[in-house]
Amino acid sequence: MTAYHFTTDIQTAQTLDANDPLASFRNEFHFPHNAEGRTQIYLCGHSLGLQPKRAAMLINEELHHWQQHGVEAHFQGERPWFSYHELLTDGLAELVGALPLEVIAMNSLGVNLHLLLISFYRPTQQRFKILIERNAFPSDRYIVTSQLRLHGFDPATSLIEVSAREGEDTLRTEDILEVLQCEGEAIATVLLPGVQYLTGELLDIKAIIHGAHQQGCTVGFDLAHAIGNVPLQLHAWNVDFAVWCSYKYLNSGPGSIGGCFVHERHAMNDDLPRLAGWWGHDKESRFAMPNDFKPIPGAQGWQISNPPIFTCAPLIASLELFHEAGFAQLRTKSLQLTAYLRFLLQELLSNKITVITPQRDEGHGCQLSLRIAAPVDQAKAVHQNLLDRGFITDWREPDIIRVAPVPLYNRYIDVWQFAQALHECLL
Ligand SMILES: *Cc1c(COP(=O)(O)O)cnc(C)c1O
Repeated sequence: MTAYHFTTDIQTAQTLDANDPLASFRNEFHFPHNAEGRTQIYLCGHSLGLQPKRAAMLINEELHHWQQHGVEAHFQGERPWFSYHELLTDGLAELVGALPLEVIAMNSLGVNLHLLLISFYRPTQQRFKILIERNAFPSDRYIVTSQLRLHGFDPATSLIEVSAREGEDTLRTEDILEVLQCEGEAIATVLLPGVQYLTGELLDIKAIIHGAHQQGCTVGFDLAHAIGNVPLQLHAWNVDFAVWCSYKYLNSGPGSIGGCFVHERHAMNDDLPRLAGWWGHDKESRFAMPNDFKPIPGAQGWQISNPPIFTCAPLIASLELFHEAGFAQLRTKSLQLTAYLRFLLQELLSNKITVITPQRDEGHGCQLSLRIAAPVDQAKAVHQNLLDRGFITDWREPDIIRVAPVPLYNRYIDVWQFAQALHECLL
């Protein structure tokens, strides 16, 4: 773990902000205001990232192209729509550690997960189970159980859930590996989060992949809380497939376009079963409208429909900012911001809250999950009280407040003020 020298004085925050090489990126975002017009302290980038100022310009450009060219905008203008989504490829590949041919922006996360399970969950009578975690995001659970049923299996006997140990909050890699060791022969597919949404725990993706592949399972990761948050090397780690949304740490707006990763060794395999549509068909002959489907080599071959240009536009804006800031620098700042938050909470509030997110650098991203040691009504009131004071965080039943200082737009002073406010709320 990196060692830092923090104090509880406001001067520490001021010095850290003054020396922050990424400080200017804050000016690239719009911040929400309260009813009196006061800027709020936004610590909720894990749920919905803030709007990049450049997003409006990029959306307006496409509104303009539509005005000016109509259907011809597919092939005219600065960024023709025919290949518009391909402008996202390099930025996404960079963030997930993939070859460009392994990633595609399309649909939304849940839809992509279904599409990739069609290709990667290929159960047999001997090997048909799916491994998830007990606290899986509900949508992931619904998706997986409906896939089991689609293939005629009963989730009661075909779904395996790994969970934290009694009295613990986060998953242990060794426990996941042990389940794989014991039951791996019957497991067709493993689906786990990169970063767990509730606890903020970053899983050891590389070790899990290794353990699962030794047992012959395919492995997918849900990167909703990981992309744009933690370093990823999907290609090198040999991940089979992954999916994400772009409205959390990727700041591309509510319901914006999702994405997925298909490892090269699968992406180039035309024989993998898939649900096909015209946009996944060979680009040269797409408009000749042949009857036989010929997939584009790579992850693009999983596309079904032509992409929504107006949600791709803000993602272009956001990926530019990630590229300009540099992910390694963002991660360095993120670790320091989060360590600072943890330090202040420890100093001011150690008897009132527990941070359930793992402390080691490799075990977390931006988010810390705080368990409030108070009866549930009071704990919930704390979250409301924070909101009334202008701090945007979020509340998860029964007793968790999630807080995420985001290195692209949060400051050390935000963290300092949050810790003071929480301290006052819990006095
Ligand atoms: C946010 C989130 C989703 C959202 O799915 P959509 O299909 O974009 O609605 C799914 N899974 C996890 C783990 C999430 O955190």
